[in-house]
Formats: sequence, structure tokens, C-alpha cells
Amino acid sequence: MAIDLGTANTLVFVKGQGIVVSEPSVVAIDQLHGTVHAVGDDAKRMIGRTPATISAIRPLRHGVIADFEVTEQMLRHFIRKTRLAHPRVVMCAPSGITDVEKRAIVEASLSAGARRVNLIEETIAAAIGAGLAIEEPVGNMVVDVGGGTSEVAVISLGGIVVSESARVGGYDLDEAIMAHVKQRHGITIGQQTAEQVKFDIGSAWPVEDDLTAEVKGRDLVSGLPKTVTLTAEEVRVALAEPLRTIVETIKDTLERTPPELAADVARRGILLAGGGSLLKGFDERVRVETKMSTYLAESPLTCVVMGSGRSLEEFDVMSAQAGSSHARRHFGRR
Ligand code: ADP
Ligand code: MG
Repeated sequence: MAIDLGTANTLVFVKGQGIVVSEPSVVAIDQLHGTVHAVGDDAKRMIGRTPATISAIRPLRHGVIADFEVTEQMLRHFIRKTRLAHPRVVMCAPSGITDVEKRAIVEASLSAGARRVNLIEETIAAAIGAGLAIEEPVGNMVVDVGGGTSEVAVISLGGIVVSESARVGGYDLDEAIMAHVKQRHGITIGQQTAEQVKFDIGSAWPVEDDLTAEVKGRDLVSGLPKTVTLTAEEVRVALAEPLRTIVETIKDTLERTPPELAADVARRGILLAGGGSLLKGFDERVRVETKMSTYLAESPLTCVVMGSGRSLEEFDVMSAQAGSSHARRHFGRR
């Protein structure tokens, strides 16, 4: 099976079955007994709504494991759901993380029940999942905006030539909205409310500027519930800073890209993947700022796990030709 262990969402692909799990990376822990109360969708509904004894935890931060034990429990829960005992697993890992952080992903998977673990770079998986022929000597640029990270890579001959990552993603956009509403309107709102505002009227470029949204929060002064109306324009201004970081990461990567590959990217355009790339006007913004064309993956939220799944099938063929350099380039061996 292939697992995309994301900061926001975890997806599991099983060979011959397709995607069998697609749930938020959230675990509700019963603090009194130290047991898992709920995982995934059920746990997400509890965020900000738990009694004192239960806490809803997101065990990953910025693409890396922040709470090892809770991550392991979550993986065990999702692996069990597939009903496969001791599966061989391909795990996606962001390219911007350290060896120690990679090691933690492998260890968590092994203790969660995996028999063997191979890592694949997330951007490579996204490219495969989007149907790009990455084995060719042609440059392809991939941008993956997740919940807590943005990964940018130029891929050629099946490997990463240049990459950059920023520890900024969709959650930082939610937080920017929360901070804006607090400062400008004097009410506090929760992360999920902010995320809903982002889905409804958030944008990276003036595309649908007449949109507005009503949000309910708690008045900072009176402590009572209060409703305010937000405009698309003010939300875009609120999102400016984290978005600038993401766009700068893309530009930095382009500047470091060797000329032949940069010419390929100019010809073929930039592939956008990850849930964050669904923000209204994000594609337009990247187009304007980089002067390159862009195209959104057909399914931005699933292309990483689909690509890992496809590489899993390839890997079986490759490991038959034991120790091929081809296999080694794609996968970290264990
Ligand atoms: P990860 O790989 O880190 O788990 P995902 O690729 O699953 O992240 O993307 C999750 C992020 O995408 C969240 O921050 C979510 O708010 C954001 N997202 C999903 N859909 C949209 C949308 N339509 N508009 C803006 N942001 C979106
Ligand atoms: Mg991801």
C-alpha cells in the first residue's frame, strides 16, 4: 500500500483497490486513560469542541511528525482499516525534511504494523500521480501546497534537480484570517471557521471580489457571540503575507533551475498540486508572478497518493531486477 501522511490529510492507496482511506490527520485522545478516542473524520469534528478530558491532536506539523506516539496510533488505525496484515508500505515524505525526520516516518510506520517501508519524495509522487512522464530528460516543475508546507521541485530523469520548501501552507492562511478578524473586527473565531471563510471567499488574486461571508465569533470585549461580514478583498489582504512566502519559494526555485530545464518549464508550465493550490486565483497569481503558465493537477488532493501507488507497482517490477539504479533513484532503501 501507499500512504500519504500529510499535515492535514492522510490517504491510503491499496494496490488493486485504489484509495481506501482519505481522512484528516487528527486523533482524539482520552487524557484520563491515555487511550485513542477517535481518529480521522470523527476526531476532526471534535476539534475545539472537546471536554477537558479529551484532546484532539494533529500529530504532524509542517510535514513532519510532531508527536511520534500519536502518529503511530493514527497510522495503526488507518492500516487496520485496510485489513491487510503487515503490509509493505510506500510512504511519501516532503523533500525539505531532515534524515532524522525521515527516519521518524519510517519508524512510526514500522511500529504501526508495516513490514517494510520505502520513502518516496512527495513532489515526485505528485508528478507521477498527475500523469507526467518524469523519466524523460525533460524538466517538469511541481508545486505542492499542503496544510503546513509548500514544496517546489524541478524533476528530470526521474529525480529531483532543484527543490525548495517553505514551512507555510493552508493552515497558515487560516491563521492569517483568524488574526485579521481578531484585529480588525474584535472577535475570535476558530480554525475551522477560518478555513471555511478561506474556501468560500479566500483568494490569491482578485477573481471574485464581490463575494462576502458572514462569520460568527466571540466578541473580545463582551465575550458574547457576534456576527461580522467579511469581504473577499479584505481576506485577500489578510492572506498576502503567507502567500508571498509561497510565491517567493517558487521564484527562488526557478532562479536556481539550470537554463535547459527552465526552458522546459517555460514550455510545459508549472504543475500545481496539494489542497492549498485550490485557493481561488492561486494559479493566476503564480502565472502572473513567474510569467510561466500553470496547470492544476486533475485531483490536487489525491495525486500524491495515486502517484505513490503507481510507483509501488513499478517498484515490484524494479525490485525483480534486484538493485537496479532505477529503483534506488526513486526510493530511499531500507
Ligand atoms: P497535506 O498534504 O499537508 O495533508 P493537503 O494537500 O491535503 O495537505 O491540503 C490541505 C490544505 O488544503 C488545507 O489547509 C485546506 O484548507 C486546503 N484546501 C483544501 N481545499 C481548498 C480550497 N478549495 N481552497 C483553499 N484551500 C483548500
Ligand atoms: Mg501533501
